[in-house]
Amino acid sequence: MILSESRSKRLLSEYQVGIPAGATAASEAEAIERARDLGCSRFVVKAQISAGGRGLAGGVSFSDSPEAAGKAAAQILGRRLVTEQTGPAGEVVRRVYVEEAVNIRDSLYLGIVIDQQTALPTLLGSAEGGVAFEQEAAVRPEILDRLALAPDCAYDDDAITGFLERIGLDGEPLSNARQLVIGCIQAFRKNDISLLEVNPLAVTDAGQTLAVDAKIVLDGNALFRHPEFEALSDDLWVDTAERTARDNEINLVRLKGNIGVITNGAGLGLATNDMIFDAGGLPANFMDIRTTATSFGIARGVDLLLAESDITVLLLNVHGGGMTVCDTVVEGLAFAYSRSKRRLPIVARLAGQNAPWARTILKDRRLPHEHFDTMSAAVSRAVSIASGRYR
Ligand code: GDP
Ligand code: MN
Repeated sequence: MILSESRSKRLLSEYQVGIPAGATAASEAEAIERARDLGCSRFVVKAQISAGGRGLAGGVSFSDSPEAAGKAAAQILGRRLVTEQTGPAGEVVRRVYVEEAVNIRDSLYLGIVIDQQTALPTLLGSAEGGVAFEQEAAVRPEILDRLALAPDCAYDDDAITGFLERIGLDGEPLSNARQLVIGCIQAFRKNDISLLEVNPLAVTDAGQTLAVDAKIVLDGNALFRHPEFEALSDDLWVDTAERTARDNEINLVRLKGNIGVITNGAGLGLATNDMIFDAGGLPANFMDIRTTATSFGIARGVDLLLAESDITVLLLNVHGGGMTVCDTVVEGLAFAYSRSKRRLPIVARLAGQNAPWARTILKDRRLPHEHFDTMSAAVSRAVSIASGRYR
């Protein structure tokens, strides 16, 4: 779940991270008004989309008067912005952020991620922040410095100082940046953030440090601990399919493959996806039907998979038991097929409570399916269909 730039900055400012003054607007008139309220003489108008790379794609523009800021907003609003990070479809700009433009002396990069190898929250920093940072870091990884934090984000003061020195700071900017970094670390920990980026972290002519751009990705699985973010849902760019699934008691994570996976229980879901990989296939998603899901909710989950044109087969791996019984899942599947034109082949492995009954439903509703008694047989069949060996 990605927070908009404006929301990311507002959150960081609660942790004493300096940000330029700014406000969002959805029309030219609103942009003019926001700019007037700022009472400064130079403005930046920035497209609020979930992807970065806006600067190079015409999504960031500077103006010298509130009226000019309004014109800039009118040009960006409603446009489909294609950046290096949006993919070819781009993203439509529904809101802009109108900010006071600051004089940037140096542009640095600051990030906090959970390092996949060490599983530790890790600071990333570079003296070479700015719009070209990603491309630069891809070819010259040595421009990126790292500092691992403790699992609970505890840090060593001297280590932070050393890290900031290595990315070229000293004197007053260093002590300002230290406060900014510590604020970011606290925000990262308290809000279950999985990615936090400040790029550029600007050092101004006066030696202040400001988060001129910020991006926060929240850990969707921890959202239940943060009801405060639910209220901001219109400001969150949530994958709409994942969100629809969540509203229907299904945990869905979209992946890049072509095998649609329907399972109950997170453990079974992970194991199924591992088996698909081991058999040489690629899952299109992870799915965990929660015990509280109804057959109608499950139908909505299947709708989402049927709507994905990349998916060429559905793998149904269900172990009935506890509160989810096999027939509930298959009823949902049958309902989704009854209102869809797609007849995607289904490879099923049904076991546990009400499995025989569920198989009867698959037959009676004439769903295009094959059933296998073992997970490995079902997985290998799904993989062979997905790789085009289906007859
Ligand atoms: P991104 O391209 O999507 O990452 O958008 P950014 O918010 O990072 O803006 C792109 C670039 O515009 C930044 O790297 C800065 O160089 C520049 N920029 C943004 N805001 C300001 C500002 O207030 N003052 C100055 N001088 N440059 C800015
Ligand atoms: Mn940026």
